[in-house]
Amino acid sequence: MQKTLSIVVPCYNEELAIRPFYDEVLRVSKKLKDVELEFVFVDDGSRDRTLAEIQKLRKEDKRVRFVSFSRNFGKEAGLLAGLEYAKGDYVVTMDVDLQDPPELLPEMYEAVASGEYDCAGARRVSRKGEPPIRSFFAGIYYKIINRLSNIEMVDGVRDFRLMDRKMVDAVLSMPEYNRYSKGIFSFVGFKTKWVEFEHVDRVAGETHWSFWKLFVYGIEAICAFSTVPLVLAAVLGLLFCFIAFVMVVVIIWKTLAFGDPVGGWPSMICAVLMMGGLQLMALGVIGQYLAKTYLETKRRPIYIVRTTEKDDKTVNDGEAK
Ligand code: UDP
Ligand code: MG
Repeated sequence: MQKTLSIVVPCYNEELAIRPFYDEVLRVSKKLKDVELEFVFVDDGSRDRTLAEIQKLRKEDKRVRFVSFSRNFGKEAGLLAGLEYAKGDYVVTMDVDLQDPPELLPEMYEAVASGEYDCAGARRVSRKGEPPIRSFFAGIYYKIINRLSNIEMVDGVRDFRLMDRKMVDAVLSMPEYNRYSKGIFSFVGFKTKWVEFEHVDRVAGETHWSFWKLFVYGIEAICAFSTVPLVLAAVLGLLFCFIAFVMVVVIIWKTLAFGDPVGGWPSMICAVLMMGGLQLMALGVIGQYLAKTYLETKRRPIYIVRTTEKDDKTVNDGEAK
């Protein structure tokens, strides 16, 4: 029986990239044997003509499906919506800016369709074209998160994954609100084949990630997949209690042996400042987890749909649903 491959693409203000992306995937898909395609574009509340571009494609090609959000919910929400809407036996998640090169699709598809692997992921081996400072921090970041969490995070991995149905269902079985897809993919496990490629520049538009946004995303990822920072706070606290205890013993002994010369004002201030700082830091760490728990318990929807190809009158005009 012919299998279907769903291509899930989150798009945010990407009016210029949609058409080149579609053309490129169609060109490459000729190399994919015996497989039907389905496009699932997720318009993440774009403010430009992204949705109009997608609707245009839908009019030309009924394999194009789409979901449009009521506002911008972020790429993670887009990925989730795409995976939920995709009907294919295999699903691949890709960026629309062609930074996830479609040429890799045949190799990835082959690996999964043959049954040898459950998932194929693309790994960018060079960070050419990226500011060196960003690569430097990315390197450190991957070291830290791998130390702190049980899941394995590979440097250079993008959200470019081709999965079989089992794995998609496993990913969808994780209903968390704070989503970090790289962590989720890694958490569900399965046999993954890595396909390597060189960095490619965006086809149009510009990146949505500033350094600060990446930094916050990074901290959230650590909180989502590790509770080690909480343990660290406790261990630091214990360590300082121990040091303080030793100091108390030493001071009592000194006072008994040599009288009580008052001194050490500056060193005391240093100690007070440091303890205060550490306490605030530990509180901050706890606060992070509390905030996450708070958001998680509200059970808010991760995204809200404004329209899809099924109920969008402009693309269906009168035809059977
Ligand atoms: N994206 C999205 N919602 C957002 C931000 C980005 O759906 O709020 C999409 C964007 O359209 C693109 C992909 O996520 O298809 C990756 O974004 P970008 O290229 O800005 O990230 P980078 O490649 O620089 O990491
Ligand atoms: Mg990009």
